[in-house]
Amino acid sequence: MNANSNEVMALHGEGRLTGCSSDEEPGAKTTIFSQNEIPVQLVSNRSSEFIHRYFPLATADSWNDWKWQLRNSITNIEDLKKIIKLSDKEILAINNLKGRLPLRITPYFASLIWNTNSSHPLRRNVVPVVEELLQSSAEQSDPLHEHSYSPVKGIVHRYPDRVLFTVTQVCSSYCRYCTRSHTVGKLDKLGRQDFEKAFNYIRSHKEVRDVLISGGDPLTLSDEVLDYILSNIRSIEHVEMVRIGSRVPVVLPQRITDNLIQVLRKYHPLFISLHFSHPLEITDECALACTKLADGGIPLGSQTVLLKGINDNVPVMKELMHKLLKIRVRPYYLYQCDLIPGSGHFRTTVKKGLEIIKGLRGFTSGYAVPTFVVDAPGGGGKIPLLPDYVVEHNDEKIVLRNYKGVICEYPEK
Ligand code: SF4
Repeated sequence: MNANSNEVMALHGEGRLTGCSSDEEPGAKTTIFSQNEIPVQLVSNRSSEFIHRYFPLATADSWNDWKWQLRNSITNIEDLKKIIKLSDKEILAINNLKGRLPLRITPYFASLIWNTNSSHPLRRNVVPVVEELLQSSAEQSDPLHEHSYSPVKGIVHRYPDRVLFTVTQVCSSYCRYCTRSHTVGKLDKLGRQDFEKAFNYIRSHKEVRDVLISGGDPLTLSDEVLDYILSNIRSIEHVEMVRIGSRVPVVLPQRITDNLIQVLRKYHPLFISLHFSHPLEITDECALACTKLADGGIPLGSQTVLLKGINDNVPVMKELMHKLLKIRVRPYYLYQCDLIPGSGHFRTTVKKGLEIIKGLRGFTSGYAVPTFVVDAPGGGGKIPLLPDYVVEHNDEKIVLRNYKGVICEYPEK
């Protein structure tokens, strides 16, 4: 976990961090100033102390370089032990991950979980525990049956007018509850021929008007590869819109560079679905990344997985939704956790998800209320669920219960 030897300018040099303090929460503001005192990036005070301790030879520029972040990611137990005191459950899990979803945490995200205990919500996202090794009978490695809906490598065609295009299996950090934990992190790259076959599939299916580029995390690819993918998809006349699914602004906000925005903005209408799980993820760095994307004209939505002990209560979920809107990200989906192997410790009941929606709807802005969905096991697709607002419905009238429990009637004739 050492910085490269040619990255020798200490943080106390020209790229100086100011306002360093050890006891602030992630998100507290510190500005890095360049030589001419123009602010170039934001780093939380917590991150700056983390850099000072664990990457003492790293420069401000290297910390803010997304490729440096990827090169210096934590991928083994020895490096992880340097930043957090691991519990027995975590040690046992990490030592037995063979063939499963790998461990990978960017230095940036590590700076948010540094010195935390094992119940910390962000730490639980990325550090495995022994329960992850246990599989119940209801769990399956591919619960959404994506494999059986895949006509060519990389493409999943489940819904009539849109396809999922998984362009990489790599993520900058791996979420322990990932739906695609059976494929992500594996060395199964798409080659040039695979890409051409996928483009040809979309080209020959005129009903496809919407392409969701996902993975893995597509934003771990270089600007050049993204440009290649997007330009090919955009050249297909019947594709009306393109979406990208990413967690990069949360775990690797340094990736959102001006050059990336220049690439993305050539391909409007382009939407990005971001993946958030807890309000502590919304740091200044994350907010800056989302601001850059939004200023690039890209509508941003969020997807959140309902996770036991992390976000399965109304106050945490409401705070997350409010903070998302403040950084111009519109809450989109709240997912019931998929039945992937070893996810039992993350899953709550559907009833809990409905309670959360009931606690949001009417009590806060409609924009802050995501759609709660169950992605049906076996490939049935997303099914939206609402709390029980309908008391009675017949040819004459519908009797409804509002968010305060007040009964109202609406005539059907
Ligand atoms: S970023 Fe997405 S694809 Fe990658 S591990 Fe997390 S949930 Fe899975």
